[in-house]
Order: sequence, then C-alpha cells, then structure tokens
Amino acid sequence: MTLTTHSDTLDLIGNTPLVLLKGPSEAAGCEIYGKCEFANPGASVKDRAALWIIRDAMARGELKPGGTVVEGTAGNTGIGIALVANALGYKTVIVMPDNQSREKMDTLRALGAELVLVPPTKFANPGHFVHTSRRIAEETQNAVWANQFDNVANRRAHIEGTAPELWAQLEGRMDGFTCAAGTGGTIAGVGLGLKAEDENIRIALTDPHGAALYNYFANGELKAEGSSVAEGIGQGRITANLEGAPIDTQFRISDKEGMEWVAKLLREEGLCLGLSSGINVAGAIALGQQLLAERRENPRIATILCDTGFRYLSTLYNADWLREKDLPVFDWLGSASSD
Ligand code: PMP
Repeated sequence: MTLTTHSDTLDLIGNTPLVLLKGPSEAAGCEIYGKCEFANPGASVKDRAALWIIRDAMARGELKPGGTVVEGTAGNTGIGIALVANALGYKTVIVMPDNQSREKMDTLRALGAELVLVPPTKFANPGHFVHTSRRIAEETQNAVWANQFDNVANRRAHIEGTAPELWAQLEGRMDGFTCAAGTGGTIAGVGLGLKAEDENIRIALTDPHGAALYNYFANGELKAEGSSVAEGIGQGRITANLEGAPIDTQFRISDKEGMEWVAKLLREEGLCLGLSSGINVAGAIALGQQLLAERRENPRIATILCDTGFRYLSTLYNADWLREKDLPVFDWLGSASSD
C-alpha cells in the first residue's frame, strides 16, 4: 500500500489521480483516461493556477505578508484563490457581476473572501468586473491582481505540474491529450509540457459552441457560432496563456453530447462532474477515433475532469433548469416540474 502523508495543506493541490474511463474507452475503441481535478481541495483544476499565481507574486516580491489577492471571477478560480490565500495568510477580494448565482456568492463568502458586486456590463465599460478588480488591486496597498487570463504563471502550473504528472502516470506512453479552454492555461500548459516529453503526442483543442477558438485553429479566424451553457470554458480571444499553444487539431462538441457523458459517467462509473468535463470526454473520444482511423495502434488519450458536479446542483442536476435550457432531463431526476 502506498499512502502519502503531507506536512503542508498546499501539497494537496495537484498530484491528482488518473483513472481509466470504461464507457468512453469502449465508445472510442481505445484507452481514455481522466485526470481527477475535482480531487483538489477546491474541487477544481483552478486550484493549480491559484497556487502558481500566488507563489509567483510572492517570488517576485509583489505580495508581502498580510497582503491581498484580487481577481475578477465568479467561478472556480475565486474558490482556489480564497483557499490558497487562507493557507498563506493573505486576504482575498473577488469582484463579480451581481447577476451571478446565489450559490457562487455564498460559496466565496463562506470561504472568507470579500465580495465586491458590480452591475453586469460590456468589457469595454470601465465598470466591468475585470477592470474593477484590476483597479481595486492597484488602489489597495500590498495587493496583487491575479489576472488569470494573461498571467502565464497560470499555464506554468500545467507545464510544471499537470503535464509531468500525466507523463509519469502513463509511464511515458501517451498518444493524445485534449481539453477545452477557459483562460487556456490548461490546454496550453499541458500541451507545451507533453510536447517537451514527446513531440508526437497529439494535442487537440475541444471547444464548446459559442467559443471562437475552434474556428481560429481550423481556419485562422476568431469566430464564434452557437452557444453553450458550460461554465468556465469558451474563449473569444488569444489570451497570453494561449499564445504559442501547440494545438495540432480541434473538435467542436455540443452541450447535448457533453451532457450525455456527464449522465453516463455518473450513472455507470459513479463520477459526478460538471459540463466542461463531459465536453472534454466527448473530445477525447473524437481524438481517439481520429488516431485509430490513422491506424495508430491502441492509442492512449488523456483529458481533464475539471470540477465536481456538486457545484451545479441547481443547474445541470435540476430538471426545471435543464428543461428551460432545452437540454434532456436525466431520467433519474423524474419528470416533475414546479410549473
Ligand atoms: N472547466 C471549468 C469548470 C473551469 O472552471 C475552467 C476554468 N476557467 C476550465 C474548465 C478551463 O480551464 P482553463 O482556464 O485552464 O482553460
């Protein structure tokens, strides 16, 4: 038995398990593995970026003892920052639009973050939550702006952490990796890290509808089509984290297809995940099938299981919400409607 004891809670971030996904492997006809990022203390892949961004600011001397980390985000990054900041003795300020779900506000407050709510507005407006968070960081003494989209400490978390972990877990035999992009830190960082190990590993972007990157990598044009309800993914520009990402191929996956995998992974394999994980798994199957069509023998593909489904009880796992979004209702949720 090899069980590990850690002397620092921050060591609980990363070194996540890798699991062979039976249903997806059967559907693809090859091995599909999922990296269990929901096993991080904040239950998502973004704990890694939070830790690297904060340690980078400390190393550069920008963040001194008792300082504050400020970010504009309503999601997993805020949760990761709040936990890492608590562990290192920093304060957290999270700026978010006031139309975000009650659960997100409650979660961040529960973790001890200070919340600043601003009216939702266009990015060009100086009152936008991202600009507001930058201004608060500038105006606060001993504060840093995490700036997850364009701070490349984000992707370094995956170059130095996720990629070498995958390479070791698959014992140096791997044919492909794919995931969707929010900031792009995961796909770019894992892609760069794995290519450094073996440049023949195929790196595929799996894009949801409503994002511009599929068209960018397919034909050089940043153009979005359709829409998606997936949280945390779907990017419209080349962030600093995405610059130079070694993307070999790309797939576009619908919410419906992603939700089918969310349902199957829960009912058949006991994994409760968010929609970006379902979309990633569908992309991994597409990548496996592409490699098989090229006669690559028994390709091994890895993808990211980004966060826990417990974060989406009022949305992805709620019959009324699913109906409202025109998505199939999981049969075990019943047909009752509150109408
Ligand atoms: N899935 C979820 C649920 C997320 O919160 C994020 C982070 N935005 C991602 C996927 C994408 O990760 P990245 O920002 O590294 O592209």
